Formats: sequence, structure tokens, C-alpha cells
Amino acid sequence: MNFVSKRIQEINEYKSGEQVDFIVKLNTNENPYPPTSKINEVLNNIDIDCLKLYPNKKHTDLINSISKKYGIENDSIYVGNGSDEILAQIFMAFFDGKEETIAYPDITYSFYPVYSDFLNVNSEVIELNDNFEIDLKDYENLNAKGFIFTNPNAPTGIALDKKVLEDFIKNHPKQLVIVDEAYIDFCDESVVELTKKYDNLLVVHTFSKGYSLAGIRCGYAIGNSKLVVGLNKVKDCLNSYPLDTITQKIAQTAVEDVEYYKNINSKIRKTREVYTEKLSKIGFKVLKSSSNFIFVEHNVEKAEDIYQQLKDRKILVRYFNLPKIDNHLRITIGTDKEMEILYTNLLEILNVK
Ligand SMILES: *Cc1c(COP(=O)(O)O)cnc(C)c1O
Repeated sequence: MNFVSKRIQEINEYKSGEQVDFIVKLNTNENPYPPTSKINEVLNNIDIDCLKLYPNKKHTDLINSISKKYGIENDSIYVGNGSDEILAQIFMAFFDGKEETIAYPDITYSFYPVYSDFLNVNSEVIELNDNFEIDLKDYENLNAKGFIFTNPNAPTGIALDKKVLEDFIKNHPKQLVIVDEAYIDFCDESVVELTKKYDNLLVVHTFSKGYSLAGIRCGYAIGNSKLVVGLNKVKDCLNSYPLDTITQKIAQTAVEDVEYYKNINSKIRKTREVYTEKLSKIGFKVLKSSSNFIFVEHNVEKAEDIYQQLKDRKILVRYFNLPKIDNHLRITIGTDKEMEILYTNLLEILNVK
């Protein structure tokens, strides 16, 4: 007997990058540098007695740190167990079934269509323009309750201009604009401070990329306090204590070490520029990335073949067998050493002398 409901059997779930044996792993946009070493101290000093109790459900210390870093009021901050969880809760809190539409690009974070489908939220999918960019003019006059944009977008890496995005938010006061800034630590286009000005803006951040902490599962959202009330309500209908005590302390420590993260993330930006140039010189078209990955297409060799040959050499990059992008590869920016290994292998695969 199969007890799995027909609906669940038929649903298209999210498929994450493969976690197989590797030498160089450049397929899921993790940060190649370790998290701040101050976390060691925190872990060494934990009094395990505190684990008897449920965690602080208001995440007081962590929210205080986030509040300080961005100059945002505490009641405008919502914390969750990874930004994927927060994104799902956003769909639940602000979009009520088939009556309320959320609009997003055809090429973007592939969790959005999964949430739409799973939570029965109506979606309107808008094509990127021919340069793989989000053109906000295409989102004018839509009968949608809200929009979700990954900015910089994934898997393209391309960022919207901050001023253009602000104008869009300003000109659509009755529609909710959700900006998923998972990769914002690799550019200068954050709209977090605009949440103080616009009550229709909700920004989502994660610790998984810029903070090198994919392993703790933590994220946060910043927006008007009324939006945060809605998210807390959803949380209290699902799991009142999504963030454990240790994760809260680790995340807080990371938020407070601004210098360390500025340093490693600016290294990633430099590496990105170096390899954008190097790959361009061996026949790749590289989209202008503001992220910790590049999205590339080779002028001769098929993306799938390159992907497979790299995989045979235990070098993982991301290949999406999807319409419009099935000749592209998404390559996470690793350390200079990892990128050099990728590069020398590409020279061999492409037979470049
Ligand atoms: C990685 C990523 C996330 C997921 O973040 P978690 O906090 O690890 O759940 C969310 N949105 C986008 C666009 C991402 O690339």
C-alpha cells in the first residue's frame, strides 16, 4: 500500500546540487572560506546545561546584532531556519491560494515554482529579456499581489540597478515586493535600508553564502513590522522553536564579525573578476556577475559535455537541463587555488594550447 497522497506523489520537488565525492566543489554556491574563527570560542564555551531548555523563541541576542548591523528596528526583523524556510513562510503568510498571484521571472531560484505548486499559490512567470536580465518594465500593470526577485539573480548572477529597483518599489505601493538577497554580500546593491521607507518591501538574507554557514541553517527577513507579525503567526502555526540555541549563538557571532566577512567576500569578488576574464579568453561567454558564481556558455563545446568531463575529474559545477539555459554552466567562485584547478582542467578538456 502506498500511503503517499496522490498530490504529493505528483508534485515537482526542489532538486538541489549533487553532494557526491569531489576534489573541487563549485556546484552549490557555498563560500570556500571558513566561517569566522570566533565561532570556535563560542562552541568551546557552551554550557550544555542550557540545552535542557527550549531555545529563546524571540532570538533576542541574534536580532539585536542584526538590528545593530543594519540600523533596523528589532520588530522589523524575522529569523528562520534557513532562508528557504522563510521563503516558504512568506508564500504562506502573504499569498492565499489561487486567488492571489505572485509574479517572478522564468529563470530564477527554482524553489519559487515549487512553493507555488506545493502551497497552491497562483503564479505568473515572466520571461527574462534576451540578455538574461530582469526588466522591471515587464512587471508593470500585472494583476499580482506581489513579486519575488532574487537579486542578484540566480543562476545568472546579474544584479538589478538599485535605483531602478527602488523606483519599482515606490511605484507599486499596493503590491508586495520580496527581494531575496541571498548573494548580496558579493555586490553593493542591497535594498535593506529601503525597508524603513517602504512598507511593501521585504528583504530576505541567508547565512549560507556570504557568512560561510550553510551548515547551521539560518536566515532572516527584514521589512515593515506588520509583515514580521504575519511571518511570526505562520511560524507559530508550524514550529515555534525553529532555531536551536547553538545556531542562534553562532549566527550572532558571525553577524558581529563584520571585518572578517568583508575581507573574505572581497577576495571572492576579486577571484570572480580574474576568472571572468580568464574564461572569456578561452571561448566562454560570461554574464556580468555580482554574485559568488558565474554563469557561462562556451562558443563551441556543449555545456553538458563540459559538465560531464569535469565531473569525471571530480570537479563539480552546476548544469541545469532546462529550457533556455541548457547550454550554460553555473560555476561557484572558489578559492584561487580551486579556480586554478578548474581552469587547468578546462584547458585540457577544451584542448586549448
Ligand atoms: C542559497 C539560496 C537560498 C537558500 O538559503 P538557505 O538559507 O540555505 O536556505 C535562498 N535563495 C536563493 C536565491 C539562494 O540561492
